[in-house]
Formats: sequence, structure tokens, C-alpha cells
Amino acid sequence: MEDKFDLIVIGAGSGGLASAKRAASYGANVAVIEGSEIGGTCVIRGCVPKKLMVYAAKNRQALYNSDAYGLTVSEKSFSSRTLLNKIRNEVLRLSEIHRKSMEKLNIKVFKGWGRFLNKKEVQILSSNKKKVTKSIYGEKILIAVGGEPNILNVPGKELAWTSDDIFRLDQFPKSITIIGGGYIACEFACIFNDFGIEVNQIIRRDSLLTGFDTDLSAFLKDEMVESGIKLQFKEELESINQSGLGLEISLHSGSTLHSDNLLMATGRSPRINDLNLSNIGIKMIGKYIEVDEVNQTNVSNVFAIGDVVDKPNLTPVAIEQGRVFSDNIFGNLKRVVNYEYIPKAVFTNPEISTVGLTESEAKKLYNNENIEIFKCSFTPMSNTFKVKKSKSMLKLVVNKLDNRVLGCHMFGESSSEIIQMASVAINAGVTKEIFDMTMALHPTVSEEFVTMYR
Ligand code: NDP
Repeated sequence: MEDKFDLIVIGAGSGGLASAKRAASYGANVAVIEGSEIGGTCVIRGCVPKKLMVYAAKNRQALYNSDAYGLTVSEKSFSSRTLLNKIRNEVLRLSEIHRKSMEKLNIKVFKGWGRFLNKKEVQILSSNKKKVTKSIYGEKILIAVGGEPNILNVPGKELAWTSDDIFRLDQFPKSITIIGGGYIACEFACIFNDFGIEVNQIIRRDSLLTGFDTDLSAFLKDEMVESGIKLQFKEELESINQSGLGLEISLHSGSTLHSDNLLMATGRSPRINDLNLSNIGIKMIGKYIEVDEVNQTNVSNVFAIGDVVDKPNLTPVAIEQGRVFSDNIFGNLKRVVNYEYIPKAVFTNPEISTVGLTESEAKKLYNNENIEIFKCSFTPMSNTFKVKKSKSMLKLVVNKLDNRVLGCHMFGESSSEIIQMASVAINAGVTKEIFDMTMALHPTVSEEFVTMYR
């Protein structure tokens, strides 16, 4: 039957695509429903366009530091319009690659928004969600719809941007206020600042990046302040008002700020409101869909992966969940996702990367006296001639009882590339002795990881 499938995947983001392609490679008859561009948050309005902006910002910084290396570049001008258009074209190119690869695997793609009619039938709604264009049947259904930004309920909230809006801009603003102290807020604060845009950042706590090792967030705070970003801690947004061409932003303390625009980066939530989950009795756990270790919901033929479940909301996690699901269901394998030692990076300037336990998590788990900390900070050689020098910080959290390295943290250039490799060693149970007996590669920043002797 034409509209009957072995698997319906709702959502063509990183997790949905990975699972659909893996299932089709086992010979399953797969349908994918997507209301927006193929690629989802990561490709269309997240990791990919953001990282391209990070590279652009770094290039601009390099140009502005060129004098330090004896290079004279007389005319420095920047068109954010050109950059934003190039990024959009690249994102569409990647989206098209995904579309073609699904075509090759005979995956049927339906444009529209999925909604459960019953546990095996999904309706497809038109782009304005007003009309049902079709209903399709699936033996298995995978919910992979991702998340959407949280918007604080304050007067004038409709004047605020979310990160989605940044990638739709014609050009960058001259000044911006950013609400939040997490991944998105810190990354965009650094990107905009590196482009010469005036940045105010409002954080409700007294530190950045909740959940990260406190040394990392402290180093980042110092660098951000040093680079000209105006951080206000223990402060919250009260209201937003139009003021001429810009905004007047009122804060809890009673003070006001003026900037061209405001970016709300206050977390994300599963995008599940239109799925009719209550129709089929899906159990929730808080705002997330409840799943077991193989991502199965309480409705036996319905599974959920990615940002709709309560696991680290990161692209590689969603991809692995999607592949494990398809390997188990269509490849008869018995796989589970390895959630231990997931490396994380925040692409600030300089970037932060981490794998394993923070110092405080390790001390809580193994007691203070059983944890030994090795750390060093220095100005990397690449900064020697720069006027504004940034620091690097490297840190190992070690369990004294068996000498295992429980956490590896780094603040500084290329830290994401370095921590990805460190995560291989940590996953393999590396001890501090093995770090110590490993020959250094000189002159590099990461050599300090193997030279922090007792
Ligand atoms: P985060 O959870 O990282 O940060 C949210 C920030 O908003 C926190 O500082 C939080 O404060 C603050 N906040 C939440 N609610 C309020 C409120 N009511 N008033 C004031 N402040 C508030 O979310 P992001 O939106 O930055 O990113 C969403 C997710 O996307 C990340 O968690 C991550 O999974 C993913 N992501 C990953 C990236 C990467 O891998 N490099 C890059 C970008 C996003 P508090 O700490 O006090 O809760």
C-alpha cells in the first residue's frame, strides 16, 4: 500500500535523518515528515551556521591583529549582508545533500507537520497547520521533532529575537542585549563582539555556563569582560519597549539599557505541542517524552529521540540515538547509547571544552580527599605578538584511589579539537600515569596535559 510504511520519522533534523537513513539501509520502507527545511536545528539554524559565523569572526579578529605580525592591511571593511547570504546558501546546499541522499535510499519525504491520529497513523498538516493534506500509516513511529527556544513572558517579548532569527537577518545590528548565560548567549556574545558589535549580556546567576567546571566559567568571564562585553550578573529582564529605531530594555534592578535588538537565549524546550501526544497516551516526564534505554515510549510502537527526551540535547547524541534505534529495530542488533563521557564545547572566544566530571561533581561523588586536581594556565605562544592576549587553562580531575582521570577541561584556542581526542582516552579508562608517560608534542598548547607532574 502506497501510504503504509515500516517507519515514519517525524522531523528531518540530525537524529531523524540518521535514523531514517540507517533504517532504509536495512531495507525498511521509510517515510519522513518535515514542515521546514530538511536538516533541522543543527544544519539550518544551529551548529552549522553558528560555526561558520565563529570562523568569520575569527578571521576578522586575525585581520585586526595583523599589525602585530608586521602585516599592514590598510582597508578593513565587513559586510554582514554578504556573510549572512553565504551562510544561508551553504546551509541550503547541505539541506539539498540530505534530500538527495534520502532520495537515493528511496525514503519518501512528506512536506508538512506531523500529528498523531492514533498510535499507528500520522496526519500531515499543511505549512500553516490549518489543513490535513494526507494521512500515512507506520508500523513504527519515531518522534524526532527537536526543540524550540524558550521566550520569557515579559511585556514586549514580541520585540525579542531568538537564535532562529539571527540566521534570518539581512545584516547584523550595531548593538545587542543578550539574555542568558548559557551556550547560545555566550557564543553569540563572543561572535557579535568579535564583529565589533556592542554587546550587553544579562545573567540571572553570578556566573556563566551553569553545570560547567567553575574554573572554565571563571576564565571565560574574565576574557569576555576583557574583550569588551558588558556582563551584568544577578540581573533579570523586566520588559522591552520600542524606543525610536532601537529598544529600551528595563531590568529588575530598575536600571535601563538601550540597544538595537535583544536576543533571548534562555534555554529550549521540546517542540511537541502540535503532535497530539495526549491522543495516544504518551507519558511525559516534566517537559520531555519519557523513554527507556532504547528510546521506546510507553506506547510500544512509538519511539522518541533528540531534544524531545531528557538526555544531553546535542547533535551527536541525537544521531547516535537515531542510529541505535534503527540498528535495534531493523538490523536486529542489541545496542544502547553510551552516555558516559560525552565531550562538550562552547564556541566562545576562546572556546571552552570539557569531558567527564567537573571538580565539584567528582568531589561530591568520591569525597574531597580522594580527588586530586592538576591545572595550569598560561598565555599561549600564538598570542605572543597580539596586543590583546588571551589565556589558556588546562585541568585534569583525578581519582587518587585508582589514579583514573575523571575529567578533562580546557579553556583556550582549539580546545574542542583537543578534548575530542582526550575523550577517547578517558572513555578507555586512562590513568594519570598514562598521561605522565605520554611524550609531549612541542610546541603546542595541549602538551601541558602530559606535563602536569605531581
Ligand atoms: P542553556 O540551558 O545553555 O542556557 C540557558 C540560559 O538561560 C542559562 O543561563 C539560564 O540560567 C538562563 N535562563 C533560563 N531561564 C531563565 C529565566 N527565566 N530568566 C533568566 N534567565 C534564564 O540554553 P541555551 O538556550 O543557551 O541552549 C539550549 C541548548 O542548546 C543547550 O543546552 C545545548 O544543549 C544546545 N546548544 C549546544 C551548543 C554547543 O554544543 N556548542 C551551542 C548552542 C546550543 P540558569 O543557568 O540560571 O538556569
